Amino acid sequence: CAYSVGFDSITRQIESKLLKRGFQFNVIVVGQTGLGKSTLINTIFASHLIDTKGRFEPDEPIRQTTEIQAVSHIVQENAVRLRLNIVDTPGYGDLVNNENCWDPIVKYIKDQHSAYLRKELTAMRDKHIPDTRIHACLYFIAPTGHTLKAIDIVVMKKLSEVVNVVPVIAKADSLTLEEREAFKERIRAELAHHQIRVYPFDTEDNDEEERQLNGAIRSMMPFAVVGSERNVIVDGKPVRGRKNRWGVINVENEAHCDFNYLRNFLTRTHLQDLIETTSQVHYEAFRSKQLLALKE
Ligand code: GDP
Ligand code: MG
Repeated sequence: CAYSVGFDSITRQIESKLLKRGFQFNVIVVGQTGLGKSTLINTIFASHLIDTKGRFEPDEPIRQTTEIQAVSHIVQENAVRLRLNIVDTPGYGDLVNNENCWDPIVKYIKDQHSAYLRKELTAMRDKHIPDTRIHACLYFIAPTGHTLKAIDIVVMKKLSEVVNVVPVIAKADSLTLEEREAFKERIRAELAHHQIRVYPFDTEDNDEEERQLNGAIRSMMPFAVVGSERNVIVDGKPVRGRKNRWGVINVENEAHCDFNYLRNFLTRTHLQDLIETTSQVHYEAFRSKQLLALKE
């Protein structure tokens, strides 16, 4: 209509600006050595990478991670560009004394908040601040089929105070489907018992639809995942999978494991919310504490 002011195009304007700049998404992986952290990250993102500065070559042997290490990638899907930082951590739990093994990880997460705050306080208002704040922490649980380890409870508790924690059952191919369900249920009960708030949690701004989606996701958590950096042939087509003497696990088959659910959750349905929750809940808590300390 002739009298249109045109502000209805603002969402499109924001969108195209965002798309041009691209999303910044930062993930950290935490858990014991050998649980398949590096493999899973490769399985989720490798096929979409257009530019890599790190190891994403499937034939290169997996090096053991010995320090906290951030690797940047650009992932492109249609017009959408995702700038992805993956922070790999050395597995804890290999040490004789695991006391405070989580400290360097919590410190790393807080350091990113601190760096952002410093830039926010000095930068021009409209300047874009590079964001290294961690939006999601994938926490790898060993597929014991029994209960969480004492260390899992301590570490997840600590982490959940500073970051969105998404627990996953690693190497789920070593459990039967019934074992996975029972294990999941026990883990959920233990998390509730220890009042560990894992992501996604509802906030006041969540509408009914979001609450339902989050409820559905919580009821299937932790995602039981399988990773693989190799392709196997299923029905004449190469798929990400693992082959053993009994058969083939197709990582992307939802009847075989929750890999697809996890990937959709991280990169589609909850990407934006993970970023917003980090800024509005975790960073905000850090920021107000720091600013309060400054005043004293
Ligand atoms: P990280 O130390 O946690 O980074 O573990 P890696 O990704 O280096 O994997 C350790 C070993 O476990 C490698 O030999 C992988 O091939 C294997 N592995 C990774 N993911 C899975 C999985 O889902 N199932 C099984 N059975 N093995 C896996
Ligand atoms: Mg690793």
